[in-house]
Amino acid sequence: MRIAMISEHASPLATLGGEDAGGQNTHVAELSAALATAGHDVRVYTRRDSTDLPDMVQMRDGVAVMHVPAGPPEPIPKDVLLPYMKEFSRWLAAQWRRDDWVPDVAHAHFWMSGLAAITAGRQTGVPVVQTYHALGTVKRRHQGAADTSPARRIGYERALGRAMDRVIAQSQDEVRELVRMGVPQDRMVVVPSGVNVENFSPAGEVAERETGRPRVLTVGRLVERKGFQDVIRAMRAVPDAECVIVGGPPEELLGEDPQARRLRALARSCGLADRVRLVGAVPREEMPRWYRSADVLVAAPWYEPFGLTPLEAMACGVPVIGTRVGGLIDTVVEGRTGDLVSPRDPSALGTAIADLLADRTRRFAYAKAALDRARQQYSWRRAAAELGGVYTAVSEVRRPSGVVA
Ligand code: UDP
Repeated sequence: MRIAMISEHASPLATLGGEDAGGQNTHVAELSAALATAGHDVRVYTRRDSTDLPDMVQMRDGVAVMHVPAGPPEPIPKDVLLPYMKEFSRWLAAQWRRDDWVPDVAHAHFWMSGLAAITAGRQTGVPVVQTYHALGTVKRRHQGAADTSPARRIGYERALGRAMDRVIAQSQDEVRELVRMGVPQDRMVVVPSGVNVENFSPAGEVAERETGRPRVLTVGRLVERKGFQDVIRAMRAVPDAECVIVGGPPEELLGEDPQARRLRALARSCGLADRVRLVGAVPREEMPRWYRSADVLVAAPWYEPFGLTPLEAMACGVPVIGTRVGGLIDTVVEGRTGDLVSPRDPSALGTAIADLLADRTRRFAYAKAALDRARQQYSWRRAAAELGGVYTAVSEVRRPSGVVA
């Protein structure tokens, strides 16, 4: 099939770790690659955010990335991208009206891509499926006034849920949220994200450990809701271990990053300056080395639509201690591949980490079960096969072209 992936702000070619570059970029890159391996022809449409980018980049066999002119060709925070989505959708519709590459299906990632894709899809007869990656209702609940998303986001997300040919939820928690929003259940399919089990595996290079201390690793964009401040506070209850935080801007720019400065100041005030280390952004291909170097991966978000980092750690044979939120409830099996604690509870987190580090037998048992689970349940091959079935189902009821909503 010809599959159009729409990912307005998250390019599969971007460097990760920055504020708007994380799981969605990885998801789109890996899913597109797995679909190409399964024999499909994939084009990823993402906004041109630099004049240096060519119109099209062949990412690998079967996956081309198209840079869509929509708004100024410069980086723009995703929360102010909405005004450019009309231009994005017009460009898509114009492309899909031409005969040389008409998709059988479009898969939109994030709500703004959904708006662009459904508009272009309705005009050209291309069916559209939606993965939200994150929901405005959840963000609003947790961030309140600090949420900088456009006010209309929640209404658009609800409308998209009703207009799409299918909604792909990534976890049971997301299904519950979507039902509360009024998205019809018969439109929903649960297909969790995957993990690249060839790259993320226990065998291979290991990042250096300068100290003999047990290593607690935590990974992600340096945003408050990822809970790094809770991990640092938790470390007070974990004697002798080091805490390594991967993510954020490149290491040399960490000193200028407000969140990195706050985290370092917190570590100092907890008396942990010598045991907490921020390493900044790590290229995606180097991530497995960091996971392999860890005794435990801690993921302590306040909320998390899916959460790739626990899964990546599991695929490297590393046990996970996480918070009982979002996708982690499905991926981490409590008492078998790791432990879950309540979010925003550094003391419970500290106890869980200290207990696991002190129990070598349980750590090894978790590590083995985590590896098996990641390989059996979460390969991208499996996700691509399930989504291939969804794409086929929706393309068989393709609308006649020229129909406008
Ligand atoms: N990541 C990376 N380098 C970094 C930090 C993160 O490659 O320095 C990757 C990480 O391996 C994962 C993704 O970014 O694939 C983060 O995804 P997750 O779902 O955990 O969080 P999100 O960023 O979507 O909130």
